[in-house]
Amino acid sequence: MRKKIAIKIDVDTKRGYEQGVPNMLDVFQKHGIKASFFFSMGPDNSGKAIRRIFRKGFLAKMLRTKAPATYGLKTMLYGTVLPAPLIVGPNPAPFLRAIADGHDCGIHCWDHVYWQDKLPVLSEAKIREHLTKACNLFEKLAHQKPRFCGAPGWQTTYKSLKVQQTMGFDFCSDVRGYAPFYPVVEGQEFLPVQIPGTLLTMDEVLGIMGVTEDNIVDYWLKNCDKPWNVFTIHAETEGLAKISILDDFIAKARLQGFEFVLLKEGKKLPNIKKCRIYAGYLPGRAGTVALQSDPLN
Ligand SMILES: [Zn+2]
Repeated sequence: MRKKIAIKIDVDTKRGYEQGVPNMLDVFQKHGIKASFFFSMGPDNSGKAIRRIFRKGFLAKMLRTKAPATYGLKTMLYGTVLPAPLIVGPNPAPFLRAIADGHDCGIHCWDHVYWQDKLPVLSEAKIREHLTKACNLFEKLAHQKPRFCGAPGWQTTYKSLKVQQTMGFDFCSDVRGYAPFYPVVEGQEFLPVQIPGTLLTMDEVLGIMGVTEDNIVDYWLKNCDKPWNVFTIHAETEGLAKISILDDFIAKARLQGFEFVLLKEGKKLPNIKKCRIYAGYLPGRAGTVALQSDPLN
């Protein structure tokens, strides 16, 4: 059986949405492949992410990845000096084109920075309010309900999983790990199945472990060493300044015999195990993310 790669695209900002998404759709069209998009549906509060400057490793990462050049000055002021603009509502065209092109589209969040920075203190009611706003706008524009969601910054809590469980998703992709699994938190099992990202992202590896823009594609493909691989990319990076790296990755993966599939194909894999979700560290990333444990059964 051919080894598979599912591309997961996180759309975090207005700039990534308006410019990065169309660029990526062109690249996918050129190669004739389909991917899975996760849209931040509400306000772009990117400027507020600067609060994370007090978090271990954040400043070093911002400098190492040249964040101001990647995101643009305007994006870095949204929600502080500049008001936070809505991302999808005022300009549904990129969102609707992704659906029309046959890609699988779902929810990333309503407000990325709010979720990523505040989730541990949010009530179930607040989490539900945000997810419901994102789902309602999705449904209004697409005339269909979103079938999946993926948490910003891979941040989950017992409460967020409990709310997501009630929202009728086919799967969620909130976690970093190695294979699809049924999540267990604080001894409780949750649905739906989690389909985790398996590769380190560009901002995590670029500039460390000897990885450069010239060899990052080979680094990623070497790490697609399992039958099932999930490659997470961002509209703000691989959709804009690094679009040629995405193009190159797809071309080389094809040559090496990989098949590109939608994330939801992960649900069909045999022997999906139960695993715990726990907060842990990844190389090159500030703060903790939700990680998949070894199998419990
Ligand atoms: Zn994101």
